[in-house]
Formats: sequence, C-alpha cells, structure tokens
Amino acid sequence: MSTIPGAPSIPIDLRSDTVTRPTAAMRRVMAEAVVGDDVLGDDPTVTRLQERVAEIMGKEAACFVPSGTMANQASIRAQTEPGDEVIAHEGSHIINYETGAPAALSGVMVRTAAGPRGLFDADQVDGLARPDSDHSPRTRLVVIENTQNRGGGAVWPLDQVRRVSQRARGLGLRVHLDGARLWNACAATGHSPAEFARHADTVSCCFSKGLGAPAGSAVSGDKATIARVFRFRKMFGGAMRQSGILAAAALHALDHHIDRLHEDHENAARLGAGVANIPGLAVPLPVETNMVFIDVDRSIGTAAEFCASLRERGVWMLPTAPQRARAVCHLDVSRAMIDIALAAIESAARAPMLSGAR
Ligand SMILES: *Cc1c(COP(=O)(O)O)cnc(C)c1O
Repeated sequence: MSTIPGAPSIPIDLRSDTVTRPTAAMRRVMAEAVVGDDVLGDDPTVTRLQERVAEIMGKEAACFVPSGTMANQASIRAQTEPGDEVIAHEGSHIINYETGAPAALSGVMVRTAAGPRGLFDADQVDGLARPDSDHSPRTRLVVIENTQNRGGGAVWPLDQVRRVSQRARGLGLRVHLDGARLWNACAATGHSPAEFARHADTVSCCFSKGLGAPAGSAVSGDKATIARVFRFRKMFGGAMRQSGILAAAALHALDHHIDRLHEDHENAARLGAGVANIPGLAVPLPVETNMVFIDVDRSIGTAAEFCASLRERGVWMLPTAPQRARAVCHLDVSRAMIDIALAAIESAARAPMLSGAR
C-alpha cells in the first residue's frame, strides 16, 4: 500500500466524506432493524426515517432514496416538465457530477449563474429567469447547493438563501435545496436544517457523507410534491425493498453523528492552515466546513502527480482540476491523523520526483 518508510500503515483517506465506514454501533442497529417491503409501503424503519427527516426539515413529507443524485434528479423531475429551464450555479453538483441527468431524465435545460464560491444572489435570478413567451423555455426551478462542494464547502448564509428564495418565489419559481451537506452548513452557522429548508420547496439531505451511513439520501417537501418524488424514484429505479437496514443506519447517524461535525470542521481548518504554510502549495478557498482545496504549483507537478506522490505516503486525496486537489475531513479522520497527513503533504511537496507517477 505505502512504499515510503514512516508512512501510516492505514491510509488516511481524505478523498471524500463518502469513504466513512459504518461504525460497530451502526452495524448493530442495522442488523437489528425491523424491516418490511418498502415498495409496498410496509417497512416501519424507512417510514420512521421519513417521518423523522420531514420533521427535522419542517416539511409535510419525505422520501428515502438511494443516493444524493437521485434525490436531486427526482426533485428536478417532480417540479419540471421537458423543455423547462432550471437555474443553478455553474459549479453546482447537478451540472458537474450527475452525468447530464437534468437533460437525460427530465428533459430540462439548465441556465447557469456565476459567482464566487458557488454562491449567487437575488438580482442574478431576475436576470436569468425568462419572461413569459411562446418562444422561450419556461423557467421553473432554482437550485441552491448548501454547502457548495466546488466552492470549497462554502456555506450559503441564511440571509442569502432567503433573498434568492423570495425573489424566485416572487417570479413564480420553485426552489430546490441540494442539501447533501446541509448538516455541515448547520454545524457551521448554528442554524437548524428547517431554518434553511423553509426557503425551499424541496430539500435533499444525505446520510452517507459526513453522517457516515453506508448509503441513502432523502427529499423533503409538501405532500403533493413528495408524492411525485415517490413516483419518479420508482421510475428511476430507486424504490427499494427491505431498505429499513439502510434507514436504521441513517436514523443512528441522525442521533449520533451530527453533534460531532464541528470536529471535522476544526480538523479541516487545521489542515488548511498547515497546508497554507507549505511552499508550493496554496489554499485558494476559505475553509468554512470540512473541505480543503489545495492548489499545487507547477514546479511540484500536476495535482494528479501530487496526489500519486501523497498516496505513496499513505494519504489519499482527489485531484479536482489540473492544479487543484481536494481533501475532506470526516468521521474516520482524527486530529492526530491531520498532523500525520500534514507531514506527508510537506514531504510530497518537497520531493515530488519520488512519485512513481512521474
Ligand atoms: C455528493 C453530492 C451529491 C450526490 O450524492 P451521491 O450520493 O454521490 O449521488 C449531490 N449534491 C452534492 C452537493 C454532493 O456533494
């Protein structure tokens, strides 16, 4: 695994907060979960999770889905018709990392907003929403991503969410909140999920990122919209049978893994501060939550080469652009591991030629 003497025996995996493995306690509740056939509506654990999430989000109903991608795409499909248009930030997950699904599954166009760290503001919505016309696509939905992944795990301030939502709703548009990491936005701001979610018609949340469950997301909203989300979940192949085993993990995560998210944020801040002091590396975006983006100077190599060199030192990260890598802190990364990772990063930045990739 590791070829460099002194590298940790277990890799420090900073590729994503999706790499967490279920804890022993989580596996126990999964093993003991009461289950049924959820497609027939009788898995009590899934039902309990859906009721719990709806309550947390302050919504009438929720639908458990296999992934964040399906949460977003079923939400888009439920609130648009083919030929409609969706407004989203150009750096958003639905545009960059969901295989073109808005076009393929909903037949919608996406009109992009620009802005620092994945954020935009109400006046941009005015400019991007199309006037009623026989010739134009019909603008239907605005998507806000909080926290914003490519923006560095940036937090949309509650007030900005409110402004964008009010403007959108004033124009007759609906709002979807991609809340894959809404838990992190809440940990960073002290606001509750419902405080953000009240400005959205549908809100997704993910159990398998910072919360550490093996799989699963949910969409919350009003009853009529969630009924459509259920229909499209089935159409997209995401209706599952004894999924109470997964729902049990999600419920356990809601009970035990939310209050600790600030630790991931502290670790990310520590990592970011350390990296910023290493010659040839820079931290281009403020570290607001659990993510650290690292710009690699060309004198060291490409981000892919840097990551390969780091991997030999037992630290795993993902390149996200030719000169940019990403590190994400999570449940399975301790503060002590951050210090070990920093030593490895410094070593890789100093000795790039050791990398087998070069
Ligand atoms: C990860 C992520 C998703 C999609 O989640 P998957 O479960 O990987 O499909 C959606 N939105 C954002 C912002 C994400 O980071």
